[in-house]
Formats: sequence, structure tokens, C-alpha cells
Amino acid sequence: MDAKHLSKRMQAVADLVPKSNNVADIGSDHAYLPAYLLEQGLIKHAIAGEVVDGPFKNAQSEIISQNLSHVMEARLGNGLAVIEPSDHVDTITIAGMGGELITDILERGKAKLTNHPVLVLQANVDENTLRKWLANHQYEITGEDIVYDAGHFYEMFRAEYVNHPVSYTREELDFGPLLLQNKTATFRDKWNEKLAKNRFILDKLVNSKSHPATKISKTKTMITEIEGVLDDNR
Ligand code: SAM
Repeated sequence: MDAKHLSKRMQAVADLVPKSNNVADIGSDHAYLPAYLLEQGLIKHAIAGEVVDGPFKNAQSEIISQNLSHVMEARLGNGLAVIEPSDHVDTITIAGMGGELITDILERGKAKLTNHPVLVLQANVDENTLRKWLANHQYEITGEDIVYDAGHFYEMFRAEYVNHPVSYTREELDFGPLLLQNKTATFRDKWNEKLAKNRFILDKLVNSKSHPATKISKTKTMITEIEGVLDDNR
């Protein structure tokens, strides 16, 4: 992958980014995402935020090698701390981390969200935690996708601040409110795989000596939920 040839995962994230004046890509590493968005003319300016020195230097190298110094800046810092009010960031992208970590970055950086930037997020796991945080902060999911790339399923979404309360059902939090409305082959593949895994786990739990009641009950609930979503006759 490079800024001109994004991975399938990164391309799906890029496709959710609206035309923006200033994008802050947090946890940018190589800065391929903002570099791609700039080179495509989709955004005017970018900040590549990184908390670790090595990836920060990767971002700096990418900016220089792609001749983007006039429109992109790498900043070393934790989460949204790299964003200043004078930047007028209108879109924040955070990709390639766990949902808990992305949620933590947003929670700790809430003071940087007062101008309600669009959020484009891709969590590797625990997407439901992130969707819940978004709903609790009046962010509505306005774009959502799922892809299979290099042996993994990835979900990505765009969330926009709205002037009314946002609430999602448990199913919408777990499966994605928009993904549920358009159950693609990739969506079905992901959840069929999860269903098989959960059935296997349930079998092991039920036949184990300790017979852990809470785990069994949780796994059964998950299986019922997935079966319900995959059932077209519902
Ligand atoms: N966003 C790129 C992508 O999707 O391919 C890179 C993902 S990489 C797996 C995660 C990056 O996030 C690492 O470079 C890590 O240093 C950075 N990171 C983790 N926590 C961070 C934080 N609190 N603030 C800024 N960057 C962070």
C-alpha cells in the first residue's frame, strides 16, 4: 500500500470522507490516507497526528516524498491534542485501532469537538462501543461500509453531529444501523463466520466440566442475535 494505491480497507475509509477544508488523521502512521485525499483533490489541508515517534517520522517522510509540505503537517501528540481551534478542522479520521482506543481518544479529546467535525472511523474490533459513544454524543451514522481485506473483516463509518438525540438498538450497535439496511454478501460472510465460531464455543462450554452459566447464556444470546439478523424471513 502507498498513498496512490490504498488497501481495500483504507480505500473504503477514504470513500467515506466528505470534501473537507482541513482533515486531522489521528494515528496516521505513514499518512497514506490524508496524502491520498490531498492528491485526489478531496481535501485542502491535512494534519497527520501521531503519538509514537517512529510512525510520526514515517508521516514526515511521506509528506516530503509526496511534495505535500505546503498542505500537510505531521504533529507529534496524543489523540486529539494535536488539534488547535485555529486549525478549523472539519473532519477527523481515525482508523486501524481498536474501538475502545478510538472511543478513549474521542472521550479524552471532547474539548476539540466543540465545532462538531465529521468523524470517519474504522475500528478493528469493538465497533459497538464506538457506535454507542457516537450516539451518546449526538453523532448520527450517515455512511457505513464493510470490507474483507487480507483475511479480516473491517467496518468503517462516517458520523455527523445532529441537533437531536440519537439512539440505536442493541442490534444496530452490534451490526451497524446502515449495514443492517443493506446486508451485503460481505456482511453475511462476516456474521456467518461469527455464528459458526459462537456455535463451536457454545458446544465446548456446554460440554465442559465447569459448565459456566454466564458464558453459556451470553454465547446463546449472541447466537440468537446473529441468527435473527441473518434470517431473511424475519
Ligand atoms: N491509521 C493507519 C491505518 O489505518 O492504517 C495506521 C494504523 S496503526 C495500526 C495505529 C497508529 O495509531 C499507530 O501508528 C499508533 O502509534 C497510533 N496511535 C495509537 N494511539 C494513539 C493516540 N492516542 N494518539 C495518536 N496516535 C495513536
